[in-house]
Amino acid sequence: MRPYNKFMYWDKLKKEIIDTDLYSRSGTEVGVSGGVLDLKEKNGDYYPIKLLDRDIPEISCKASSDKYINYPKLNKFVFGKLPESWLVGEYKKIFIGHIKNKNVRRNASSGGIVTGAQKYLLQKKLVDGVITTKMKKDQPYLSESIIATSTDEILGGAQSKYVISPTNLILRDLPGKYNSLVYTGLPEQIASIRKLQYYKHDSVKNINYVFGLFYGELLSFSALTSFLKTHKVCDLKKIKRLFYRYGEWPGSMRVELKDGRIISVKKFYANYLIPSHITNFSYYQVDYMSELADISVGDGWSPVYEKRGDGWSVIIARSEKGLKLLEDMEKEERVYLQEISFGDLLKMHSHGIDFKKRGAFIRIANRRKKGLPVPEYGYEPVNIPASRFRIEKLLSFLFWLFKQRFFIMILENLPPKFLGWFFVLARDVWKKKTKNAKKGNLTGLRFKIKKMDNI
Ligand SMILES: Cc1cc2nc3c(=O)[nH]c(=O)nc-3n(C[C@H](O)[C@H](O)[C@H](O)COP(=O)(O)OP(=O)(O)OC[C@H]3O[C@@H](n4cnc5c(N)ncnc54)[C@H](O)[C@@H]3O)c2cc1C
Repeated sequence: MRPYNKFMYWDKLKKEIIDTDLYSRSGTEVGVSGGVLDLKEKNGDYYPIKLLDRDIPEISCKASSDKYINYPKLNKFVFGKLPESWLVGEYKKIFIGHIKNKNVRRNASSGGIVTGAQKYLLQKKLVDGVITTKMKKDQPYLSESIIATSTDEILGGAQSKYVISPTNLILRDLPGKYNSLVYTGLPEQIASIRKLQYYKHDSVKNINYVFGLFYGELLSFSALTSFLKTHKVCDLKKIKRLFYRYGEWPGSMRVELKDGRIISVKKFYANYLIPSHITNFSYYQVDYMSELADISVGDGWSPVYEKRGDGWSVIIARSEKGLKLLEDMEKEERVYLQEISFGDLLKMHSHGIDFKKRGAFIRIANRRKKGLPVPEYGYEPVNIPASRFRIEKLLSFLFWLFKQRFFIMILENLPPKFLGWFFVLARDVWKKKTKNAKKGNLTGLRFKIKKMDNI
């Protein structure tokens, strides 16, 4: 017989998740801990601490999505079936489009679809609360999730926050006084919401709409401090406002300082931060397009739309409810939608899909070989070509190199303009050289379902 452990679930959570490098900091475990845990922020990072001398509820472990996301089971739960393609997940229709309200579109990340749809739901009284993530007022370099109940609050949550955001901490305040909510989050945060719905947890009973973002990489807080160092700013308290996607699409990373100085770097240039500061969790996450959402939204990356400017999104209507919402908005001329094919979507996002559906699975297999903890997703590809393994070797070396302290210091001391320009050039060369191995034959990738007991 196993000895009685008063803190069985807390110990399990620590061992399997918190004390590993795969801890995503989504806030889920704390949000449903019934007040046993709190989330402490230190230097932009987050750690759960125990407030009470008792164990956490079992649901804190079960709702966490850092170690287990059973995509086959959750797909059946949410959509009643498995997706036809594991590359993009279940879908009813795929569109390219944008919100028609110019102000919303301009202030959003891509086409303003998420903010526009949140606003529409509130105006039509289909929801009475909108879960959105905004930058904090008193510490504008940190983000927080709120339940917005006015248009102004919704607009204040627009734009992507590329840095760790413990979105699901909001579960502490749910269901609260709200009868119907719309939730927006990243793939693993959404997986936790779906797990909680699977377990019929009270906190999520009124979440009626789930919007998901496409997501290649999430950055650690060190991305911001390193960016600031490059621009000779060492004190976070000097920041007045911070945006990751300011201005016309694709926008800029922009820091407004209290002394009036403005630092602005184009989004594609600021991408140089990715290899050095990508979180481990997102490096091994295989869900690029928020496959468990009702509607998923990403950037409309394609030369045609990039030339047109103004902001374009790719939109995947996954559930009937999600599709109906988009069609109702279209009937009322709130949104411009143009249906595109599965093939068009693959063409626009092949790099991101490859990074997750081949790259992340190779990286997971490599970790497993080394005996390191790995996330389990309930399925995996079976025929990744040898050429792709070779590319991953090189890519892993580059990521390793970019994460070295001495390399980061070199980057921090290079002239910012040169850094961005050089990174874009290097990325273009890399994309061209690896085009065939990375873009080629994505549709030929086959997957198998794995036995998995956890949800
Ligand atoms: C970390 C991250 C990585 C991404 N990677 C890609 C990518 O590789 N390819 C791609 O095509 N698109 C990516 N996106 C999505 C893209 O940046 C846009 O968010 C998406 O196109 C929706 O645009 P929109 O104009 O409709 O959103 P908006 O109208 O600007 O609304 C965005 C909504 O998302 C919420 N939100 C923003 N950041 C977070 C966060 N960190 N956690 C939870 N909620 C958040 C906001 O609060 C707001 O409600 C990423 C987004 C994030 C946050």
